[in-house]
Amino acid sequence: MKDVKIDQDTCIGCGACESTCPEVFELNAEAKSTVVEEYRSGKENKGEVPDDVDCVEDAENACPVDAISVS
Ligand code: SF4
Repeated sequence: MKDVKIDQDTCIGCGACESTCPEVFELNAEAKSTVVEEYRSGKENKGEVPDDVDCVEDAENACPVDAISVS
């Protein structure tokens, strides 16, 4: 599994992660990126995603303010 974390203070709500990887990311009502409920672990800005979901790295690279970390 891969750990995904979003820094919501840094997120500018551009939507690039959601368009690049809608399986994992969605914007909340405040236009901050969140992990979809299926993969969420605890808080909305953290999740665990199966290794074969490759688009999380694409979203990490697409984020213009480096708010997404994948490890
Ligand atoms: S790509 Fe980055 S800045 Fe844009 S909504 Fe996603 S986390 Fe926020």
